[in-house]
Amino acid sequence: MKRATMTAPGQIEISEATPPSPGPGQVLLRIRRIGVCGSDIHVFHGKHPYTSYPVVQGHEFSATIEALGPGVSGLAVGNKVTAMPQIVCGQCGPCLRGDEHICDALRVQGFQAPGCAQELWVTAADKIVKLPDSFSFEQGALVEPISVAVHAIARAGDLAGRRAVVLGAGPIGNLVAQAARAAGAQVLITDVSEHRLEIARRCGLPHTSNPEDEALAAASRRVFGAQGFDLAFECVGVEATLDAAVANLAKGGTLIVVGVFAEKPRMDLGLVQDRELKIAGTLMYQRSDYEQAVAWIASGDIVTEPLMSEHFSFDRYLDAYHFIEQKRDQTMKVFIDVA
Ligand SMILES: [Zn+2]
Ligand SMILES: [Zn+2]
Repeated sequence: MKRATMTAPGQIEISEATPPSPGPGQVLLRIRRIGVCGSDIHVFHGKHPYTSYPVVQGHEFSATIEALGPGVSGLAVGNKVTAMPQIVCGQCGPCLRGDEHICDALRVQGFQAPGCAQELWVTAADKIVKLPDSFSFEQGALVEPISVAVHAIARAGDLAGRRAVVLGAGPIGNLVAQAARAAGAQVLITDVSEHRLEIARRCGLPHTSNPEDEALAAASRRVFGAQGFDLAFECVGVEATLDAAVANLAKGGTLIVVGVFAEKPRMDLGLVQDRELKIAGTLMYQRSDYEQAVAWIASGDIVTEPLMSEHFSFDRYLDAYHFIEQKRDQTMKVFIDVA
């Protein structure tokens, strides 16, 4: 079977490997689609702080079950599935209180442990999430980033009737906006890319704004009136959007930090104090987030089709990265078609 290994930043080698067999409590998966994510791109550039080389990437995927290891129940050969990529210790403070996703010893497959960039892959049966037969393999590979969005909105509590601004309309921003809408919020989404704003509108998010043409305060007034917005999701990871969110949130409002910051930003903590703003971070997801993501794709509350930009065959893994490099904000989700 074929395996794609990133041997160094910018380099991927496709090699032949011995097919693995599932041990007790494990399943053998035939990988179908892999989604390339922003974090994968950071690894490609050698700019991911917690990944060393060589690394087998791949954490957003769909698969079918090829074989079950001893002692696995509730799953069957042929099931259409995805799986959560977190490997946790089960013993630290966060694990013991049910927050395994922020385990002190967290390792993520595709970063600190081998990922699914191979034709056949073994993972733990208790990480498997079943997909409805109606799902396309592309939708299955989108469950992971949608779970990121589902977890992000859960960090803000009840969203019914809230007025939310999502800063950033890349794949994660788009999905956070859709998840917030599914949970009952009114949503304004902003980005400097007209292409991404157009994709957002195609996903049923009519309230868009480009900060190069319209300041956030004006966009907020246009969409929400004088009361403004009480919830902001920063999905870019740069100082300008973080600062705009803090400067314009209504009193008592909440900021959820979704974006990954390559550089330490500055923001006006005086406003946080004076306006009683709340700030929370969000990292990855739990099983309940995966299940909600599957449910919202199945119900159509989260629209997936406009996010699917391009497909590459497994042998052209490296070309997928070059495509993303060249197209930048013209792409949303790029898939590797494994089988
Ligand atoms: Zn990802
Ligand atoms: Zn732990």
